[in-house]
Amino acid sequence: MADFYDVAVIGAGAAGIAAGRRLARSPASFVLLEAAERIGGRTLTLERGGHALDLGAGWLHSADRNLMVAIAEAAGLDVDRTEAPWQKQTAAHGMSHIEQAAFGEAFQRFEQRIDKEAEQDGVRAADCYLEPDCRWNALLDAVFSYISGAHLAEIDARDYARYEDTGVNWRVRAGYGALIAAIGSALPTHLGKQVRAIDQSSARVRVATSRGDIEARTAIVTLPPWALAALDISPPLANKVEAALGLPLGAAEKVHFALAQPEDFPADGHLFAKTDSADTGSYHLRPMGRPLVEVYFGGSLARGLAEAGSAAMADFAVQEMTGLLGSHFPARLTLLAASSWSTAPYALGAYSYARPGAADARAELAAPEGRLFFAGEATSRARYSTVHGAYQTGHEAAEQALECLSRGAAA
Ligand SMILES: Cc1cc2nc3c(=O)[nH]c(=O)nc-3n(C[C@H](O)[C@H](O)[C@H](O)COP(=O)(O)OP(=O)(O)OC[C@H]3O[C@@H](n4cnc5c(N)ncnc54)[C@H](O)[C@@H]3O)c2cc1C
Repeated sequence: MADFYDVAVIGAGAAGIAAGRRLARSPASFVLLEAAERIGGRTLTLERGGHALDLGAGWLHSADRNLMVAIAEAAGLDVDRTEAPWQKQTAAHGMSHIEQAAFGEAFQRFEQRIDKEAEQDGVRAADCYLEPDCRWNALLDAVFSYISGAHLAEIDARDYARYEDTGVNWRVRAGYGALIAAIGSALPTHLGKQVRAIDQSSARVRVATSRGDIEARTAIVTLPPWALAALDISPPLANKVEAALGLPLGAAEKVHFALAQPEDFPADGHLFAKTDSADTGSYHLRPMGRPLVEVYFGGSLARGLAEAGSAAMADFAVQEMTGLLGSHFPARLTLLAASSWSTAPYALGAYSYARPGAADARAELAAPEGRLFFAGEATSRARYSTVHGAYQTGHEAAEQALECLSRGAAA
């Protein structure tokens, strides 16, 4: 006989953990089924060189409204409220103050156009809102590759306009991944169980995994869209598969270096390596005052570097820093860690973006189907691509499953 639960939660990233935490406060029996050998999904904090390094999510975006701030503090973890340095170009290396101001203004005009026009214009890629021949278009595209994991020509402008961002960004000093792992650690979880099929055509929902089947009254699916589309679901959910195909995961990767003689740089400094190319990294100097450099790559550059391997990714970062800071600079760097989300088998990317025409696919992906409920960052209309968005959708899906159980709508 297969094990039997009120709720099977599929995936133990931020959304699955949120669902589990909500269910743990109810009488319902439940289990989290996770393909990987750890919980946390696209969050992961590693300890290297005495520092907590986030390889995945690192920032509490919209921090003045982000529910994870209170959750971190309730877990006893410090939240660093230093302003994010992304707008700065430390010591005006390669970008004068006048150029920095001009770029800031071009960015603002671009966002204002999207916010004002995209919803009424209908289907358009975000690059339609660039000013023709603007000197800053390549750098804008680079920044969007960090924000969306994809380039402007690949993104639905309406989806971008719907994203909620207060512009306040904080960090968990011990690591965002460490927070998610801590708050999920007590939940009943089966690791190393990849879900392959879900059958809700009979009285019980049957979930087939790589290591045996389980049965449940209801299930909550929290997988990245591509992994949801790969499941064998009975009866089939053609609309979900189509929605998932409109919401691919973009690419974002990080490299962390230790930095010798850090006092030459201000705490929380920042550099763009190039201003005339979309294929360039963002360099955070001395994050939270630590003797480190944290490098961020996005879009096709990030995916290509991940496929080439961590040594190639680190080399690219070192070359860009040499171009800005001189040929003696690399001797001060020691590679600590590099991510590879683009090739990690249960992620295959960083966060979802909507292809042009797919802005409404998020609502389709989120809609319940019978005794199946759906969560995960890609199902959030305004907080997609984030941990707090994923968490909120997981909490809501658990409430939906509990409501279904209380109605007696599940066997
Ligand atoms: C480099 C990078 C930087 C980021 N920066 C930020 C940031 O600063 N701030 C922020 O808020 N967000 C950031 N994000 C995004 C954030 O990490 C994600 O939006 C969020 O963690 C997604 O959570 P989720 O639960 O929706 O999905 P996931 O974390 O992907 O969880 C899904 C889980 O399902 C598992 N799984 C997959 N397939 C199966 C299967 N068939 N059966 C069972 N289990 C399966 C996976 O292993 C995973 O654990 C970043 C992500 C990356 C990669």
